[in-house]
Amino acid sequence: MDNKTAIADSFGRTFPYLRLSITDICNYRCTYCLPDGYRKSQHNKFMNKDEIIRLAKAFAGLGTWKIRLTGGEPTIRKDFIDIVSSINEIQAIKKLSFTTNGYKLPDRANSYYNAGLRSINISVDSLNPEQFKNITGHSRLNELLKGIDACLYAGFETVKLNTVLLKGLNDKELDNFIDFVTDKPISLRFIELMRTLDNQDYFNTHHLSGAAVVERLLARGWKKKNRAIDAGPAQEYINNNCKGTIGIIAPYSKDFCKSCNRLRVSAKGALHLCLFGEGGYLLRHLLQSDDQIEELQDKILTLMKFKVEAHFLHDNNSGVREHLASIGG
Ligand code: SAM
Repeated sequence: MDNKTAIADSFGRTFPYLRLSITDICNYRCTYCLPDGYRKSQHNKFMNKDEIIRLAKAFAGLGTWKIRLTGGEPTIRKDFIDIVSSINEIQAIKKLSFTTNGYKLPDRANSYYNAGLRSINISVDSLNPEQFKNITGHSRLNELLKGIDACLYAGFETVKLNTVLLKGLNDKELDNFIDFVTDKPISLRFIELMRTLDNQDYFNTHHLSGAAVVERLLARGWKKKNRAIDAGPAQEYINNNCKGTIGIIAPYSKDFCKSCNRLRVSAKGALHLCLFGEGGYLLRHLLQSDDQIEELQDKILTLMKFKVEAHFLHDNNSGVREHLASIGG
């Protein structure tokens, strides 16, 4: 394979980071995402392991060094560990991570670590058992908390928690969440609720600006961390008295898209240039044999000219995204 140029867009941004969804199916029913649970569609043929690995190799040859597996819930795939082990064999991929709702994590943390995973993102929308059930549809907070400890114990280098802070639901827990990272080497991320096609009324009722979190962090002595040049869109905060850090992902904030460094591929093999954009460009036909890799790479590079400068969320336009389970957030 010739040396290809790295993936870049017309606005000077480069894209070393791929979020790769491996299933749309999720076993949780988060009220802001899949309140009625996953509904099987007629066309739910997700990429098989070979297709996923070809895709990862093609991206790796275009400068991608970080991949996050997501879903739906990626760990419900029976071949999840196989997929992880195979991606780990691609030398150019320096960081492989995954996002999970933490299902069965206490039992599985070691097997994830043994498969070569060192970085995990766990969604935790409440530290209160009842509220957790109310938001996710499952009484599994205790399991999740044990799972977080199991990951730290297993030796994961990066343990990140994702929390969507929701007005009138878990926003009263802001201080509890901040306290949670006092003595744990964890990076907690508050994600602003994003509007999708399916959650418009919910969004109007529960959206809380990241600015409210920043205000509270500053009041509690947290300080904004200097931004590394290659940092993604999260604003990071630190506190010398705490082992953990806190990040804020505020897609409605000014200039959020300027630091965009990621592309997404759906479980059906479509390239999405923006979380809130177009319906995706199908790559699946170029994932059918190993000798298609050059054609696949040329296609990815060509599609980059369609990447727009910023999303249109401020105009109440969330593109065609029904919910984030269809692409992994
Ligand atoms: N099942 C996995 C999990 O629970 O983390 C991975 C998929 S989930 C779609 C990825 C992340 O997207 C989760 O942290 C979830 O909270 C977040 N998410 C889903 N819908 C969202 C929305 N409308 N706004 C903000 N975050 C959302």
